[in-house]
Amino acid sequence: MSWVERWKRSRRGECRVCGVALAEERLADCVGRCGGVRISFDSLPVRACPSSHERRYIHPEFGSALTDALFHSSGVPVSRTRTRDRHRCRACGGRLSNPGIGAVHVRGSIEILDLPPFGVELSGPGTCCPGCGQVQIYATRESSDKIAEAMVDAFRSVGLKP
Ligand SMILES: [Zn+2]
Ligand SMILES: [Zn+2]
Repeated sequence: MSWVERWKRSRRGECRVCGVALAEERLADCVGRCGGVRISFDSLPVRACPSSHERRYIHPEFGSALTDALFHSSGVPVSRTRTRDRHRCRACGGRLSNPGIGAVHVRGSIEILDLPPFGVELSGPGTCCPGCGQVQIYATRESSDKIAEAMVDAFRSVGLKP
């Protein structure tokens, strides 16, 4: 099998190994870790070969849409960092001056790319908003990098590729 043929199969939404069309599937459990951060997905939508040769993103933009949703939209309580070094509360938009309260566990639901919603749970360094009391992941540059790495680890653990 030449790489060109494998690439063509991939473009057609077929398994690169056997050429059978990939079918939508939901993974019951998918967990990744990096440092003190743990991420888990519930009912993660993927495309999979019926013979388990490979698993691919449900949509070409899935990875970037998921990252965008985690850090920039609501759904899962993660602090916003739109302005450099200024952390804002995910719930009320208030300034987070508090440096952190240690590890927290949060959960939420992600809705992207017209897909049915799926669950996300995150454990990692957290903070509590002094304004509204929302407990959330404190998305410093360091913890954001760890969340992204934990996501890569989770996808790697189930053989999920773009
Ligand atoms: Zn296959
Ligand atoms: Zn708040």
